[in-house]
Amino acid sequence: MAQQLCSLCSQRPRGRMASFYWARFHGGNDREAWKQRYCQACFQRDIEPWYERLLERSRDNAPLTCIACDQKDTSQLVSMYMTAYVPNAEMERESVDICLEHAPTYQPLLQRGAEMLVDRQADAVEPARARW
Ligand SMILES: [Zn+2]
Ligand SMILES: [Zn+2]
Repeated sequence: MAQQLCSLCSQRPRGRMASFYWARFHGGNDREAWKQRYCQACFQRDIEPWYERLLERSRDNAPLTCIACDQKDTSQLVSMYMTAYVPNAEMERESVDICLEHAPTYQPLLQRGAEMLVDRQADAVEPARARW
């Protein structure tokens, strides 16, 4: 069985981890899908700042913008799809958009240590949810 290591720091934390499933479409049905896990420290440091903002915007039905700035021009945005399972929180499915300027910063972060998924697994549901 695969070791449950944090995708970002490669440590095995004591508590539960957040699991994020990612997908990016390259036109038609050509899809790349991967999964990351974050320990609490990495989540709070690298994910939560933009993630909270993303959820807030989504609740407000705000227009799509880059997760790191206010770029709205869709020709300047790279879109990914995220299904997020954060301990002690609701499951969230959101589109994550990153402008071309911020993509070199965020894309490596969001693919670091990732486990590539075949299409079928991308929709797999993570089982139990618990507190950190
Ligand atoms: Zn970590
Ligand atoms: Zn940006």
